[in-house]
Amino acid sequence: MEKKKINKAEQILVMKFGGTSVGSPEAMQSVLDIIAKEQPVWKGIVPVVSALNGVTNLLLDSAQKAASGERFVIDANAKELHNRHQVMLDKLIESDVEKRKVGWEINQLIGEFTNLVEAMYILGEASPRGIDAVGSLGERMCARILTAALNERKIKATAIDSTQLIVTDARFTSANPDETASKKKIKTTLLPLIEKGFIPVVTGFIGATPDGVVTTLGRGGSDFSAALLGAALPAGEVWIWTDVNGVMTADPRLVQDAQTIEHLSYREVSELAYFGAKVLHPKTIRPVIENNIPLRVCNTFAPTVSGTWVVSDKSYITEGIVKAVTAISDLSLVTVEGTGMLGVPGVAARTFEAVAKTKTSVPLISQASSEQSICFTVPIEAAERVQRALEVTFAGEIQRRDIDKISISPAIGIVSVVGAGMRYTPGVAGRIFTALGDAKVNVIAIAQGSSEVSISLVVTQADLKRAVKTLHELIQQDQGGSK
Ligand code: ADP
Ligand code: ASP
Ligand code: MG
Repeated sequence: MEKKKINKAEQILVMKFGGTSVGSPEAMQSVLDIIAKEQPVWKGIVPVVSALNGVTNLLLDSAQKAASGERFVIDANAKELHNRHQVMLDKLIESDVEKRKVGWEINQLIGEFTNLVEAMYILGEASPRGIDAVGSLGERMCARILTAALNERKIKATAIDSTQLIVTDARFTSANPDETASKKKIKTTLLPLIEKGFIPVVTGFIGATPDGVVTTLGRGGSDFSAALLGAALPAGEVWIWTDVNGVMTADPRLVQDAQTIEHLSYREVSELAYFGAKVLHPKTIRPVIENNIPLRVCNTFAPTVSGTWVVSDKSYITEGIVKAVTAISDLSLVTVEGTGMLGVPGVAARTFEAVAKTKTSVPLISQASSEQSICFTVPIEAAERVQRALEVTFAGEIQRRDIDKISISPAIGIVSVVGAGMRYTPGVAGRIFTALGDAKVNVIAIAQGSSEVSISLVVTQADLKRAVKTLHELIQQDQGGSK
C-alpha cells in the first residue's frame, strides 16, 4: 500500500539536518541544494539544524574541564569554535557585508561561551543550567550560517532561536516540553513568516523555561525538536537528514553489510531508537505518531536515495520477520535476590522507588517467575549509587536474610531484535537462542517487550559485538529466503 498522498503545495515540510550534514562547507552545500530543490514544491520549508558535528561535545567538554580547573581549555576551545565556523563563512558566503555581519554574531556567541565557561572555572562548578547555556551555543551559531548562506542564494531566510518556540520545564540537560504552550508559540511565530515567503531556520536541541532560561532536550535532541515543530504546525511530512541511507538493519558502524530498511512502523522504529539506534532520538516518534505525520530518514550525502519511511501503515508489518538489531553498551545488571522475597508484596515497587530516587534510568527489567530475584539494567556509572540506595531501602530485609544480596555485574550490554512480524511467527525466540548458542554468546537475562515488537537480551560487554553480528545474520537469512 502506498504512503498517504498529500498536496505538497498546501503543506509545510520540516527538515532536520544533523551535525555531519552541516559539519563542513561541502555538506552545507548539499543542504542548500536540498532546500533549494524542495522550496518550490511545498507551501513552506522549516529547516531545523544541529550544531556542526563535534561542536556540542566541544562545548560540553569545555564546561566540564573548566569547572575542574583546566583554564587553558577556555581560550583553546574558543579559538577552535572560531576556526570551525569561520571556515564555513569563508567558503559559503561571498558578500563581505554579510560575512562581517554573521561573523560578528558568531563572535558574540563565542564571547558568551568564554564568559560562561570562565565563570564555571572560577566557581569550580558547572551547574545543569550553566551547561545548557553553553551547550545551546552550537545550534545558535549554525542556524545563523545556514540563514546567511540561503540569503546569499537569494532564498529569503531568517534564523529563529527555538528558545522562542519550545517551552519546557526546568529539567536542565533533558528538559520536557510543554506541548500546548509550545504549539501556540510555534504557530504564531513561524506561520506568518512562512506566509511571507520566508524560510525560518530553527535551532534544534534547545528550548526555554516559561521565564526564558535556556534549556536543552537531551543529547541528539534536534530530532525531537523537528518532531515537535512538525506536530505543532502541523507539517505534511518530517524528514530527518543524516549521514547514512536511512534506518538500517544494524548500526553500519558495527555491521558492515547493514541494509537500509525501506518501511518501518512507528512502533518498530521507537523500539529501535529506545534500544540504542542513535539514528533517531527516541522521543521523536511520539509527536509524529500522534499526528500521523509520515517521517522520512534520509542521507544528505546521497539525497536521491529514498531512505526509510516511518509510517503507521500496518501493511508493512509482515515485511521480514526480524527487521533490525540494535545494541546498548556500558550498562550493569543489578540483581536483588533472596528466598525470603517469595510472595512478599511490594519488593518490586520499593526497588524501583529507590532506583527512581537516584534519578537513574532503567532500560530493561526482567523478573524470573520464581519471584526469588529481580534484575534490571542501569548505566554502569550509576550502578554503585543504585546498589547503595537499595541496601539502605532493604536494610531490614537484608538483616533478616529475606534478601540475600544486592549485586551489580561488570559491564554488560543489551542486544535487541525488532520486528512487528515476530509476534505472528512461532519459533523466533528459539532461532535467536540457537544462533547465539552456536556463536557461544551467553545470554544473561531476557526481556520481551509487551508489544512483542522486540526481544532484548542481556549479554556481557565482551560478547555484544558478536551477538549483534550473529543476530544480523538471521535477518539476512530471512531476506535471502523471501527472495
Ligand atoms: P545526526 O548527527 O545526523 O543526528 P547521528 O550520529 O545522531 O546523526 O545518527 C546517525 C548515526 O546513527 C549513523 O551514522 C549510524 O552510525 C548510527 N546508527 C546506529 N544504529 C543505526 C541504524 N540501525 N541505522 C542507521 N544508523 C544507525
Ligand atoms: N547538537 C546536539 C547533540 O550533539 C543535538 C543534536 O545534534 O541532535 O547532542
Ligand atoms: Mg542524531
